[in-house]
Parts: sequence; structure tokens; C-alpha cells
Amino acid sequence: MSHEEFPTEPPAVVTCGLPYANGDLHVGHLRSLVGGDAYARALEKLGQTTAFVCGSDMHGTPIAVNAAQEGIDPEELALRYHEQHAAQIPQFNVDFDFYGHTRQPTNVEQTVAFVEALEEGGYVYEKEILVAWDPEADQALPDRYVEGTCPYCGEHARGDECDEGCGRHLEPGEIEDPRSTITGNPAEYREREHKFFRLQEFQEYLQGFIDRLEGTENARTRPREWIEGELQDWCITRDIDWGIEYPGREDLVLYVWVDAPTEYVSASRQYTEEVGPDVYDWERVWKEDGEIVHVIGQDIIQHHTVFWPALLHGVGYNEPRAVVACGFVNIAGEAFSKSRNRAVWAEELLESPVHVDSYRYFTVTGSGFESDVDFSWGGLAERVNGELVGAIGNFIYRSLLFAHREYGGTPDVEPSGETVAEIEEAMERFRGAVNDYEIRGLGSPLLELARYGNEYIQRAEPWNLTDEDPERAAQVIRDCVQLSKALAVLMEPTMPAKAAELWDQLGEQGSVHDAPLSAALEAPPAAFDAPEELFDRLEDDEVAELETALEERVEQREDEDGSEGEEPAADLEPVLDERVPFDTFQSMDLRVGRITSAEPIEGADELLRLEVDIGVETRQVVAGLRQLHDVDALPGTRVVLVANLEKSEIFGVESNGMVLAAGEQADLLTTYDDAPLGTRVR
Ligand SMILES: [Zn+2]
Repeated sequence: MSHEEFPTEPPAVVTCGLPYANGDLHVGHLRSLVGGDAYARALEKLGQTTAFVCGSDMHGTPIAVNAAQEGIDPEELALRYHEQHAAQIPQFNVDFDFYGHTRQPTNVEQTVAFVEALEEGGYVYEKEILVAWDPEADQALPDRYVEGTCPYCGEHARGDECDEGCGRHLEPGEIEDPRSTITGNPAEYREREHKFFRLQEFQEYLQGFIDRLEGTENARTRPREWIEGELQDWCITRDIDWGIEYPGREDLVLYVWVDAPTEYVSASRQYTEEVGPDVYDWERVWKEDGEIVHVIGQDIIQHHTVFWPALLHGVGYNEPRAVVACGFVNIAGEAFSKSRNRAVWAEELLESPVHVDSYRYFTVTGSGFESDVDFSWGGLAERVNGELVGAIGNFIYRSLLFAHREYGGTPDVEPSGETVAEIEEAMERFRGAVNDYEIRGLGSPLLELARYGNEYIQRAEPWNLTDEDPERAAQVIRDCVQLSKALAVLMEPTMPAKAAELWDQLGEQGSVHDAPLSAALEAPPAAFDAPEELFDRLEDDEVAELETALEERVEQREDEDGSEGEEPAADLEPVLDERVPFDTFQSMDLRVGRITSAEPIEGADELLRLEVDIGVETRQVVAGLRQLHDVDALPGTRVVLVANLEKSEIFGVESNGMVLAAGEQADLLTTYDDAPLGTRVR
């Protein structure tokens, strides 16, 4: 790998974290799949030779556990989901050059070859360890077969990962108070012989690696704690029969995290077998100097920045250049939860009136890739209607319609210097986003360019110029057609199908997918037909229907559970011992108020500037609600305000009072009835 700016002479591979063949795809998967696809397409726009590969992850204990529950073979279950994923992913215009799965012969062969090379290099040893065992079921309890307490943070954890707490990978035997998920019994420990990878020997290598690694900030900083702390050797075998057999050991299979990332290599290799090494040389990429970019979810950063690069280094392969990790997706303001059915499934998106490219635009440009984001149908509709229909689509449609009517296509003049400069700037931002691994920046130049165009056409009013100043009119429309063509080229990574439609409307030959970034500045065809509107509005009733369906589903599940959505009261603070006189309480001036406006405070991620009407006056208050509430929904909310608190200044903003809220989620205190604003609370 070169660490030079893209495009580089060595070819690249972009991979996406493997979807697990154990359940339906949802918006969490789609965020990294669409992000990876947009990134791979963007690299190709820059002229980078790129393969975009992935596959289904078929092994591991969750599949074995679920298959046992269904009474079927794990292979049957995994293949069923693999086929579903392989059919559904392309419907989101996610265009893998190769999508395989981890049980294919190429991956089995590649994985075994890796393990044999590690053995030869002296990086593997055998050790007796205590593993969790279910005495009733008389079997070992690897990974998901056991639950207990995380030894690092004390949260409830599953066998191989602390998924509700610190997020660490857990080694066999590490989990405390283990219980079998098969029988629910407390697990015993038994001595078993396992294979270990000498991860400790890679500490120095990994310290250098993490300094060189490019990608998102979370992937480059979080692993430091693990790498610079005490690394443990890594147990790479399990006592089950679902997985790839350890070479020469019929009683052990490889831990799923050995064969899963190996699929990145195997899929690249199978792609080369399809197209030939002249088109794409997987060996150069993986064994020599290719640019390896992994796009993943943030829950698997440790696997991609510690275990995987150490393994690649151990077998003498090339190392990843970048790890690009996305944050979680929350649903309508609350944590995603499969068990509560608080999820939005790929299937639902495909059946909804939302065009997949509109969804792609929403997920790519919504927020920084590393941030946790919120999915709501209302939020999606707002961006589709405001940005795609209102700004981008509107600009293109009015420009091309005017051009077609007045000139039959592109007016016969050169584009103005100002327009060319504007397009060049957008191209530069796009190039910068690719090199900074900033997924949002692949799509954000679209809106900026369209806003520029709309303002330009509005200011120039070419419809008033065709008679008095035809030259000026032709110039303005020529510029707008050029901006539309630039939008088509820049749109391709984010919205490939819409880009192709626009390309057709412009009368272009060939495919917009093959058009290089520089095509944004090339002249559009002289003649084209009347355009059609590119994007469809989402109507209020359509959005309301989608929102209601989601809410009803979550409520139904909550009723079934009898949980009414309330979390168990854990970790409550004890009531204070010290009593205070009534006068002390009376000295607090608490008033009924109503939030009249709420806006973010620049530079402070969590803070809002609120205006609260308390009848006698309106108060400005700074409150830490930004991450916890839908900011636009706050105005109108009735609250209780501490009116005689000392004033303070927070982030340069004066805070004159305090809004009362409960707990970590800042559940706002409101009034039961309609006491007038300004009423004292006693
Ligand atoms: Zn933990």
C-alpha cells in the first residue's frame, strides 16, 4: 500500500463487514453496505482500479443456536439467509463485484492455507484451558452458548463479546458467572485443549500499524487502548462442529473470526477468477501493494484493527490501509432493538414508496459516518422533499425544461468561468472526501451545487431575458445545463439509478457509471428531449402510515412482553439521609413554563439554547438536551423551570434558569393539567 492520495497506481479493494446469515437485513446493515458501495464507486470515479467485495458470514454459534431451535441443520439456515441477502443487497443498488459466502470452497481453502502458514511460522501453540460446559446437555458452551458477566465492566455479556457494556471481545473462559443458554443451568468448567494464536508477539507490529492506519477517527483511536495495553494470545478454535475444521483436528473448528475476514481475500480471488488477472489481480492487492479499505460497523473495530492485521502480517500478506467504521442507527429516537421489533427492515424499505436512491442519499449524507444516527420515516421524508425534490430535482428540472424548450438542448456557448469554478470546487470537495474517508462528503456537494444553481437562475431570471438579452439568457441556461451534468456525475456514487436517469435525460451516450469525475466539465449533448422530474415527493399520509406501522409494531411487541416499554429500575440512587426544612424547599422558585424555541449551540454537541415562556417573562436557558430529544419537537413542550437559580454562562451563552428533567435520558418534567404559564410549583 502506498499512503499516496487516491487514485494510486496499485489497485484497491473495498470490503463491507460480512452480513451474518442469521437474520433479515435492516437499516443498520444497510448503512455500511450503502456507505461502502458509495465509497467504491467514488474511488472508481477518480480512476482508481477497485474491486468491491463481500459475502455472507455463515459460521459461529448464533447460527448453530438458531438452527437447533428451528430443528434444522445450521447449513440450511445459513444458506437460506445467504440467498436472501444476495438477492436483496443489489436491490439497494449496492453493486458488489463479488458476493460469496464463507463456506465456499475457495474460502475454506484460503482459511486452511492461512492457518497452516501460521503454524509453519510458529505463531500457533496448544494449551489446556477451562471452557464453560453444560453438564446436562453434556457439551461445551462456546461463545453464544453461554451468558454471564463481563470481567472488564461488570455488564451482562454473551460468551465472546460484551455487547451491552464495554464492547470487548471475550476469550473462552473469561466470562464470569457463566450460564448455559441451552438449559439455563449454571455452567461448569472443563479442561480442553485449544489452539492459540501468539497475538502478544505482534504488539510492536500493531503499534506501528495503528499509527499508519487511515480511516475514520473511531477506528484509529479506539484500538490504541487494546494494542497498548496487555494483549492476550487469541484462542482460534472452538468445541463445536459448525465451522471450518481445524487442519488435522477433527474435534475442533476454527473460531468464526478467523474464516470470516478471510472471505475478503477469497471474494477478491474469485473476482479475479471471473475477470482475469489483467483486469484485477487479487494477489497483487493482498500479497503486495494493493490499497485495502474495510468499511464496517463500529462494533467490529477490534477484529479489524487487532486480530485481522496481525493474522495478515503473520502469513506475510499486505496490511489494511484504512478502516472506515460507522456508528449505530437508532430508530425514531430510541435504541435499535431487534427483540423489541424496534427496527426498520430492508424488506420494508423496498416495499415503501421511498425510492432506494432517496434512501441511499438520506443514509449517506445524513450525518458523519462515525456518528450514531436516527432513522425516522418523518426525518427521511423531510430530507427527500426538501433536498432531493425541492433543491436538487427542482433545479435540474427547471434548467433542462427551459433548455429543451428554448434551445432544443444545450445552448451553443461556452460555460462561464464562474460556473466552471463552482463545479471544480465541488469536484475538489468530492476528491477530498474520498481521501479523508468522509462518506457524507461524497453526497454533500450535490446539495451545495444545486443551491448555487437555484440561486443563480433565480437571480438571473433567464425567462425575462430571452427577448431583451438573448445572449445572456443562453449563457445562463448553458451554465445550468453544465451544472446539471456535473450533478449527474457527482450523483453516481450516492444515487446510481437516479444518475443514470439524469444521464439519459441529458441525451448522453454510454454509462454514467463509467464516466470519470472529469466528465462533470465536459460539454453536454447539443440536443435532448423534455425532462421528467427526477425525484418523487413523499406525501404526508404516506409518511404517517409508515410511522404508525412502526409504532404499532413496537407497542404490540411491548404488550406481548408485558413490559410496557419501561426499563427495569436498575441502579437507582438511594434516597438522601439528610432532611431539609420546608422553608429551604420554599426558597426555590419553580415555575410552569413552555419552551418557545430550541436551537443548537455551535461547538457544543449536547447543548441547546432554549427560550422558555414563564408567563411573567421569557427566559433564555442552556440545557443538555440536544442528543436526547428531537430538537424540532421541543417548542410547545410544557416544562418546569427553576426561576431563581444563579445565572451562569455556558459555551458563551447566558443561562438564566434550569429546566427540570429526570435521569440520563433527560425525561422532561411537565404538568398534568393546564396550569397557566408562570404558576409556582409547590
Ligand atoms: Zn464489558
